[in-house]
Order: sequence, then C-alpha cells, then structure tokens
Amino acid sequence: MKEIKDYSLLPHNTFGMDVKASLFVEYESVTELQSILSDKNLMAGNWLHIGGGSNLLFKGDYAGTVLHSAIRGYEVVAENEQEIEVRAGAGEVWDDFVAYTVKNSWYGAENLSLIPGEVGASAVQNIGAYGVEAKDLIVSVETVEVETGRKRIFTKEECRYAYRESIFKKDLKGKYIVTYVTYRLSKQPVFNLEYGNVRGELEKRGGEVALENVRKVIIAVREAKLPDPRVQGNAGSFFMNPIVPRRQFEIVQQQYPDMPHYEVDGNRVKIPAAWMIDRCGWKGKQIGRAGVHSKQALVLVNCGGATGDEVIALARRIQESVLQKFGVAISPEVNFI
Ligand SMILES: Cc1cc2nc3c(=O)[nH]c(=O)nc-3n(C[C@H](O)[C@H](O)[C@H](O)COP(=O)(O)OP(=O)(O)OC[C@H]3O[C@@H](n4cnc5c(N)ncnc54)[C@H](O)[C@@H]3O)c2cc1C
Repeated sequence: MKEIKDYSLLPHNTFGMDVKASLFVEYESVTELQSILSDKNLMAGNWLHIGGGSNLLFKGDYAGTVLHSAIRGYEVVAENEQEIEVRAGAGEVWDDFVAYTVKNSWYGAENLSLIPGEVGASAVQNIGAYGVEAKDLIVSVETVEVETGRKRIFTKEECRYAYRESIFKKDLKGKYIVTYVTYRLSKQPVFNLEYGNVRGELEKRGGEVALENVRKVIIAVREAKLPDPRVQGNAGSFFMNPIVPRRQFEIVQQQYPDMPHYEVDGNRVKIPAAWMIDRCGWKGKQIGRAGVHSKQALVLVNCGGATGDEVIALARRIQESVLQKFGVAISPEVNFI
C-alpha cells in the first residue's frame, strides 16, 4: 500500500491540472482496500476514488484522500467453444486490456481501443465508441461497499447501464468501489464496422477485416481526430450527446433539416452535441487559456495553464449558446471535482 501526503495529481488527470491531494492512497488488493475503508483517519473527511483521471476536471487542490486501485491481472474464469469470460483487475489500464483481448483473438473490445482510463472506470462510466459500449461485454462487476467494507457482485442488469450511465454514477454514487470486472468476449469473428465509417477506413487503408486491423484502424482514426492528452490537456468528449423526445427533435429538425441524429427508440432521438457546438461557431475558439479543439467541437482543451474554473466558464458559454440556438440542453460528461 502506498500513502503519500501533499501528492501532485498532475500525472493523474488528463486535463493537465496542476493540483494536489492532501493524501494519496494506492492499494493492491481487496484486503488492503477494506483496511483503508475501515481506517477512520484515512476516510474521516472528503475522499475520492480515481482511475486514470481521464474524465475528471479538478477545480483546485483536493482537500481529502484520493484513492487509487493498483489491483491488476487478468484471469479466464469461464470458456466454451464460442465465448470466453475474462476477469480483470480494476487498476489495469483499459487499453492494455483491449490489446490483450486482441492478441488472444477474442472479439468484442476492439472498437473500444485507445479509450484512456482504467478497467474499474469502464464499468462505472459504461465507456463507448464506434457502436460498442462496455455494457455489451460486461458480465459482472465486483465491488466493495464503502460503508461496511463488504464485498458485493453486481450482475450486468443490476448495474442499470445506459448511455454513459450506470448505477455507480447515479443511485449508488460513492457507495461502492469497483475491484474487478468480468467481460465476455467472442471466440468467433464478430465485427461492428458500420458506425463512424470504420469499414470505409479499413478499406481505404487496404486492410482485410481482421481483429488486429480493426484495432489499428480505430487507433489511427482516434489519433487523427482527438488531441493526445500528453500534448494538450483534455478529457475527451466534454459533453454527452443529448437524448431528446422525438417531438422536440422533429421541431428542431424542421429548422435544421441536415441535423444528424440516431434513433434511440420509438420515442427518443440522440443528437450529436459536436454538430450543434460546431454550428454555434465554437470549433477552434479560445477563451482565456481554455479552448475548443479545432478538429472536434466536443473536446475542450487546456491551452496551457488553464484552471478548472476557466474550462467550466467556457463550457457554460457553450451550453448557453446551444440552448439558445437549438433549444436543446447539453450536459457535461466530465466530473467536476
Ligand atoms: C482523449 C480522450 C478520449 C476519450 N474517449 C472516450 C470515448 O471514446 N468513449 C468514452 O466513453 N470515454 C472517452 N473518454 C473518457 C474517459 O476515457 C472514460 O470516461 C474513462 O472510463 C475514464 O476512466 P478513468 O480510469 O480515467 O476514470 P477517472 O476519470 O479517474 O474517473 C471517472 C469516474 O469513475 C470513478 N471511478 C474510477 N475508478 C473507480 C473504481 N475503481 N471504483 C469506483 N469508481 C471509480 C471516479 O470516481 C469518477 O467518478 C476519453 C477521454 C480522453 C482524455
């Protein structure tokens, strides 16, 4: 177990906020986590569990205990001719896990290549990209209850997954810490290539439809489109794509017939927030030291030395202009701390 006072969180947040935690505690096992949770000194005041810090925006130093999992390892827990179930430690880097599945010729996670962060957060955030979400792979989520230190396994249904949502972000926020996640992958080739023109990119690059190639294409497309947090601080998509009632969508569509959209179900439609932000003229704009990425309007960037408040002020301006122009409210995906 690692316990460090006055700890710099700079390497632990992709927005590049130069902030500190009063105390940083890293554990390597469930037993260590349970002992931390029962320690009144460590858990008396504020606490926060982080993963890779790729969905966090720190507004300043964190006066409290920051917990981080170093529970690692992969283990095959079930297998038949068609499928395999792999249990991964919450402290594993998500993309290392994807690389491991691809290396073993297990299908399902490849479209989620290069998403920053760790395995634990994948189950909290229900990460998603190119038509695949973590929930499509998750079988169960192992946790420890913060208040009692008791272990509890959530089935996928109990996690109540929805677009970038889970029970861990809503009703049970701050109540459970994820320790392991079990994912089901296919041993048979199953690809998801139609979303975001993955197939087109694959053909353009002359690659055959094979697992390694799909991962390579997804990585190349993401690298071309998204800023590398090591170069320019960001947290990926800053806003969620709003899901609106069909009637509301139809009214907005009358005014903007070229508005892209995705059918969610008979009653609801998802609108790409990036398109609306771009239409409001924000792409590439900068206010103070916070800006909107020049290639992807959904990504807010730290142009160098920005504070969390500067980023939030820019986000508010964007929300206001989208609401004014389209009558649609957009909400941040990023957690403000
Ligand atoms: C360049 C870039 C691109 C991105 N692209 C995508 C994308 O395509 N799709 C997508 O979905 N997201 C994307 N993201 C967002 C981000 O990668 C995900 O939200 C990711 O799951 C965050 O993981 P993390 O480990 O960094 O979690 P953190 O940001 O550290 O934490 C996120 C939340 O999870 C909680 N948490 C973390 N670990 C645990 C745990 N073990 N137990 C309980 N709670 C925990 C935290 O308290 C916090 O509420 C992107 C981010 C960046 C910077």
